[in-house]
Amino acid sequence: MKRCLCHCKRFIQPFEVIGNLKMGSITMKRPKRIEGIARSTMAFILEASKSSYPKEFAGLLREEEGIIKEVLLVPGTHSSGGGALMDLYNIPLGISVVGTVHSHPSGNFTPSDADLHLFRRKGFVHIITGYPYSKDSWSAYDSRGDKVDIPVVEIEFDYGDEEEW
Ligand SMILES: [Zn+2]
Repeated sequence: MKRCLCHCKRFIQPFEVIGNLKMGSITMKRPKRIEGIARSTMAFILEASKSSYPKEFAGLLREEEGIIKEVLLVPGTHSSGGGALMDLYNIPLGISVVGTVHSHPSGNFTPSDADLHLFRRKGFVHIITGYPYSKDSWSAYDSRGDKVDIPVVEIEFDYGDEEEW
C-alpha cells in the first residue's frame, strides 16, 4: 500500500484499475472538461523543462474547477537520460490528478510510442513540452494521443462566474 500523493493522505493501492478510474477506496473524479491551464502553471512547466535540459522533466497535472493549476513533481525522478517517463508509471493517480506532463529535449513534442502507451493507461490530459520550451513549444493530448486545445488562462478568475475564453 502507498499513500496518496495529494493532501488527503489516504492509503491507496498502486497499479489499481486505472481504466475504470478506481484505485483502492478512491474513485478518481473525472473532470467534466479541462477548460484551460493557469498561466503561472504553464510558466512553471516550461521553466522546469528548461532547467532539466538536456534531461527530461516529468510531473503530474492537477486540476480545480476544470483548470490545470498545479504540477506534482514525480518523487524519485532521476531524469537520467530519458528515464523520466518511466517514473510516471510508478505513480498512483490521486483524486485530482488528471494527467501527466513531460518534456522532450529533442524539441519534437509529438508523443512517442512510449508516450501513447502511457497516455492510454493514465489520465485524461497530457502535456508535452519541446525544446526550446518557449510559450509555443508545447501541446496537450487526450488519452488517445489526439491533440487537444488547452487555452492558457489567467488564474484570477471568479469561481462563481463561468467566464468565456
Ligand atoms: Zn515523451
